[in-house]
Amino acid sequence: MRRIATEEAFVIPEVLGPMLDRAASEAYDPDLFFWSKAADGSPLQRRLLDLGDERLQIMDETGVDVQLISLASTGVQMFGADEGTALATLANDVLADAIAKHPTRYAGLASFAPQDPARAAKEIERAMTRLGYNGVIVNSHTNGDYLDQPEYWPILEACEATGAPLYIHPRAPSPQMIAPYSAYTLEHAIFGFQAETALHALRLIVGGLFDRFPKLTVVLGHGGEGLHYWLPRLDGMHANFKAPEGKRPQLQMAPSDYIRRNFAITTSGMNWAPAVRFAIDAVGVEKIMFAIDYPFVDSAKSVAEMDAIEISAAEKAAIYHRNAERIFRIAPAN
Ligand code: MN
Repeated sequence: MRRIATEEAFVIPEVLGPMLDRAASEAYDPDLFFWSKAADGSPLQRRLLDLGDERLQIMDETGVDVQLISLASTGVQMFGADEGTALATLANDVLADAIAKHPTRYAGLASFAPQDPARAAKEIERAMTRLGYNGVIVNSHTNGDYLDQPEYWPILEACEATGAPLYIHPRAPSPQMIAPYSAYTLEHAIFGFQAETALHALRLIVGGLFDRFPKLTVVLGHGGEGLHYWLPRLDGMHANFKAPEGKRPQLQMAPSDYIRRNFAITTSGMNWAPAVRFAIDAVGVEKIMFAIDYPFVDSAKSVAEMDAIEISAAEKAAIYHRNAERIFRIAPAN
């Protein structure tokens, strides 16, 4: 069984260095704290920086044929606009080189700096049309802003125009809502990540962005960040609780229709049988893709968990590789 893992991380020294410096010197920031786990000398840092031997060896040992690789959260989104734009370009060039060296083992999601939407749109176009990327990734909010806000529409437009699936990866909740999470360090992957990221996705839906960009595909990790659990409630409450006139666009379809039409989900960090079986029931097996979240999550354990889920061989093939081949345009194996 071919296995494609679709949310796998790397970092370049030019991003890692400043993040570690800031983690050591600045007041506590949840997204910088995260980087303190990748301290100098740690296996995590070594594995994030590596796009060669160790990554390929772990893939070989655990039966992962292809990694769809992306810059680790928060990517370039905590930098200024100019620096972030330059670092996204650099990271995209570095990853493109690694993919060119290992074209049957690696695929990639390109980074961009939402801080400068016009240049972000240009970088998305460059990555998709000239570097051969399979999609793009954003780590939820940028300085508290969300992509449904009109100034970011050029980014969504570029994704739709180039056919780039937009992977919305988590980060800690935006500054406007983080306080109640912080009391018990809930802003991390324990709960804050999925609350933040599912909110971002829902804002795109109720903001009418899929009426404006109907061919846009959004991918959510970690079992879809739980959003598809709420489908009938989202539809019912969206109809029941009207926004004040002019505050919310009239949608062409119910919220769940957009989730079914425009979204796909991955199993990063959530290769949990009940969640996978529920997702098959709720949104269909053709929308679910395997992911590990290497090197943050153990590859062998993730593969063993997915292998053990009692679904049909056809469903497993869809989740392990067929859906990723279709959605991310990864060439099928020979
Ligand atoms: Mn991840």
